[in-house]
Amino acid sequence: MTRFENPSGSSLDDTKNGGSGPREVWRCIPGCGSCCRLDPALRAEAIEALSPQQRSTYLKMVGSDGWCIHFDTGGCRCRIYEERPDFCRISSLVGLFGNDGESGDALAIACCKQQIRSEHGGHGRVMRRFLRAIRKPR
Ligand code: SF4
Ligand code: SF4
Repeated sequence: MTRFENPSGSSLDDTKNGGSGPREVWRCIPGCGSCCRLDPALRAEAIEALSPQQRSTYLKMVGSDGWCIHFDTGGCRCRIYEERPDFCRISSLVGLFGNDGESGDALAIACCKQQIRSEHGGHGRVMRRFLRAIRKPR
């Protein structure tokens, strides 16, 4: 859900990749929006983790093309960013799966990679920008 949270670039926590390799810290990048494709057929696991009220809100947001009705596809941005639902915020999302701290950061990164791969490809410009962002020193 585009730019879930964290526009300032602060992290949920630090991740050290098992102590070797570049340190990866979750960050949302502008111009991505991969997680705003809400098509229930692609998001069964996430929908399952929502409360009944969240699920109802989620399903009302699904447009006929599978993208969130609040997503500006031209500008690649959320039109209701400040008022977006809690489940669009990465800290809430990782909490739903019982993760926080270091494992929450790793989960958020894995989630973004999966969604970016499916929307923009695994080696495209968006994935390269994301990898640069999460490896950027603080
Ligand atoms: S409200 Fe829609 S467009 Fe906004 S962050 Fe959530 S899924 Fe994305
Ligand atoms: S997939 Fe990740 S990087 Fe892309 S908009 Fe969503 S939270 Fe941001």
